[in-house]
Amino acid sequence: MYSHIKHIFFDLDHTLWDFETNSREALSDMFSKHELEEKCNTTFCEWIDVYEAINHQYWNLYSTRGITKEELRYRRFYDAFLHFKYDDLELSKHWAEEYLQISPYKTNLMPGAMEVLDYLKPRYTLHLITNGFKEVQNIKIDKSRLRAYFHTILISEEHGVSKPEPEIFRLAETLSGASTGECLMIGDNHDMDINGAKGANWKAIHLNVAGNNEEKPGTVQISELKELLRML
Ligand SMILES: [Mg+2]
Repeated sequence: MYSHIKHIFFDLDHTLWDFETNSREALSDMFSKHELEEKCNTTFCEWIDVYEAINHQYWNLYSTRGITKEELRYRRFYDAFLHFKYDDLELSKHWAEEYLQISPYKTNLMPGAMEVLDYLKPRYTLHLITNGFKEVQNIKIDKSRLRAYFHTILISEEHGVSKPEPEIFRLAETLSGASTGECLMIGDNHDMDINGAKGANWKAIHLNVAGNNEEKPGTVQISELKELLRML
């Protein structure tokens, strides 16, 4: 099935870099430091559930260009504070900055990430395609020691196109010198990574950890990265 594949393109967040663990670590540090338990009259566990739901909605809005990067960065905190009846726009804007400074330095990777990359590197040419902010993504890639694995790294913000737009996959082919039939995309987001890749006539494997997303007919799915060791 993958005999023609020469180039493997990974998504970064939630696929290699354990976004959830890293984000929670950073926010937990900030929650204690700013005494939010008293201000919001809640525990970190309760607050983070609310925040993550709000954050997810804002990212969807951002991907359809319904909100700017700057608005997303502080409004997710403002709304999550307000949910607990704590109204503090100034602190929200401060958190927007502090979170961006702290979280990219966290280095938890998804289970099996290094083992899989070590296995694939001598066998394929590896690349990254990520829909993130360039200053943040570059810190993550360096601090978690991922950069050396990748021949090209494409960060959407640097090029003004993002997944799932076909243009970003065509650009990835150009930058990597790959032809369409040689490309395989591996990512956690079905709409962005998988539908995007398929729309560009690439092969795709959906990392669906713990069945977070429903199974989609016609999509190859894995529940952990280590499954790639016997597929590729
Ligand atoms: Mg992702």
